[in-house]
Amino acid sequence: MPYKNKDEAKAYWKRYRKKNKEKIAEYQKEHFKKTYPKNRKKNIEESKKWNKENKDKFNKNMEKYSLKNKKECKARKLAQYHIKIPKEYLCEKCKKELAKERHHENYDKPFKVDLVCKKCHTKLDKKRKVKI
Ligand SMILES: [Zn+2]
Repeated sequence: MPYKNKDEAKAYWKRYRKKNKEKIAEYQKEHFKKTYPKNRKKNIEESKKWNKENKDKFNKNMEKYSLKNKKECKARKLAQYHIKIPKEYLCEKCKKELAKERHHENYDKPFKVDLVCKKCHTKLDKKRKVKI
C-alpha cells in the first residue's frame, strides 16, 4: 500500500487494527501458539536479561502486580462468601445463560459485583485487560 507519508501509514494501520481487532487477536494467538514452544527458552533468557538490566522497573512491576493480585484475591473471597448467586438467576449481561460467576468491575469495591455467566465473564475480563 503506497503512503504519502509516515503519518498516513500510521493512520491506516490504526484504522485497520480497530476494524480487525478480533481477527488480529486470533492471528496473534495462533502465531504465539506456533512460535512459543520454539522460542520459549530464548524468551526466558531475554526476559531474565531484561529484568537484570531494568531491576527497578522489574521490582516496580512486581510490586504493582502483587498489590493488584492481593486486592483481587481479597475481593473475590469476600464476594464469594457474602454474595450468593440465586438459583436460576440469569446472567446480567447476556440475559440468556444462568449466572454462575461474580465479576468485579473494580476490586476496590469488593461487594459491587455483576452476576454473569462464564462466557460473559471471560469477555469482561478481556476488556479489563485492554483498558490497562
Ligand atoms: Zn452472559
